[in-house]
Amino acid sequence: MALTQLPSPAASPAAAYEGILWRQSSRESAARTYARSLPIVPVRARGLTIEGADGRRYLDCLSGAGSLALGHNHPVVLEAIRSVLDSGAPLHVLDLATPVKDAFTEELFATLPRGLAASGRIQFCSPAGTDAVEAAFKLVRTATGRDGLLAFTGAYHGMTEGALAASGGGSGARVTRLPYPQDYRCPFGAGGEEGARLAARWTESLLDDPKSGVRRQAGMIVEPVQGEGGVLPAPEGWLRRMRELTAARSIPLIADEVQTGVGRTGAFWAVGHSGVEPDVMVLSKAIGGSLPLAVIVYRDALDAWQPGDHAGTFRGNQLAMAAGAATLRYVRENGLAGRAAALGRRMLERLGALAEAYDCIGEVRGAGLMIGIEFVEPERGAEVCGRAAEAGGAPATGAGLPAGTGRVPGAGGPLPASPARAAAVQQECLRRGLIVELGGRHSCVVRLLPPLTITDEQAEAVLDRLADAVAAACRPGSRIPGFPAPSTPKEAGAASPA
Ligand code: PLP
Repeated sequence: MALTQLPSPAASPAAAYEGILWRQSSRESAARTYARSLPIVPVRARGLTIEGADGRRYLDCLSGAGSLALGHNHPVVLEAIRSVLDSGAPLHVLDLATPVKDAFTEELFATLPRGLAASGRIQFCSPAGTDAVEAAFKLVRTATGRDGLLAFTGAYHGMTEGALAASGGGSGARVTRLPYPQDYRCPFGAGGEEGARLAARWTESLLDDPKSGVRRQAGMIVEPVQGEGGVLPAPEGWLRRMRELTAARSIPLIADEVQTGVGRTGAFWAVGHSGVEPDVMVLSKAIGGSLPLAVIVYRDALDAWQPGDHAGTFRGNQLAMAAGAATLRYVRENGLAGRAAALGRRMLERLGALAEAYDCIGEVRGAGLMIGIEFVEPERGAEVCGRAAEAGGAPATGAGLPAGTGRVPGAGGPLPASPARAAAVQQECLRRGLIVELGGRHSCVVRLLPPLTITDEQAEAVLDRLADAVAAACRPGSRIPGFPAPSTPKEAGAASPA
């Protein structure tokens, strides 16, 4: 059918809705992402709730990929935007000084780690997180006169060339990849503190080995909690060790807080959990209060740039600065980071009960309101177990564990990832009016990023719908494409754990 023959937006609501989706899939690039798994047409939104053109209401736990700290259209954000519009202030001013920008900068600096707050510098970047990542790389290269970067397995820093090269899925001649510690799929088969110790040891030996080829690096970039990598909080001791190792070698430490910032993980900035003070912080998403804004803040001593070294037309978005300042202030004054920590803990407890009920859940984990549920294939546990035995041993962690612990029975290693099951859970969630995201190395992690303003009752409703979706996706007989034998709830009533 030709696009012009399709129902126009003025047609009946149902036809208009179908037409919009059809035109999108016909005209937008094959690279479109969220729109594929979430075929909805949002027309109104408030807080946690989105209303679609189909008249259905959805609980939004994607929150604009973590950028809506206060949910959709929060009154303080709308008020801040309106007051700029009503004031007659220019909306676009390149990098000129304005009262709106000054207020944003003041508010941001009031939240920063002590050293950066006292004498840090800020660079307003083009408005995507990935541009701020590029700016951070340029800055440390200019300041150190070195070229190479240290980055971590599973990282995600954006889609421009340099940011992509530093991300786990990318590659770049100037990037050295180091192990990011994680419990469940620990690269050393150890997990816990021992896994983190070994990961740090590996980094230290590379930096000290005269023949490793990576001794003099321009910087190390790290996410304090890997988001796209599968919701992996960095162990606090490990992050402190990264700080020690880099400080001792004069390697600037760059904390990518694009996704973790503004209270999301239960501290205003996620580096606050470990007390680490980075040399550079990359900030975007929630700092714009739902509008595009990205900055880096860094130690004064690194400010080796010449005028115009990192320019860009759209670095003066006044509406985003006003919305961002209002968001930062609201999160700070209402203690929303603490609220995220407490509510996140309760949600993880309930999800832990769900994981005990379903052997297709390998692990639940998170920090604050950044939560992940990893889906696995318990049916293939025996196969993996056999492979381990053939190889003459089994991973040490959890050896001797019975079935249903998220680990290979007896052997103790992680079960094979199940992207198909995670995708099925995401679709079952959508059918129940719940929007969730997928992530992780194998796309097998269902992610929750609710707004920090979510109420206890809303959190319960989210978990009810999610538990129901897991029950549907994992029930006997439910067919998941490419997935032969679904697992079963371990006990009756598993769909609604207490
Ligand atoms: N860094 C991190 C940690 C992110 O999660 C993202 C996006 O998800 C980016 C950088 C890139 O931000 P943007 O998509 O705005 O370019």
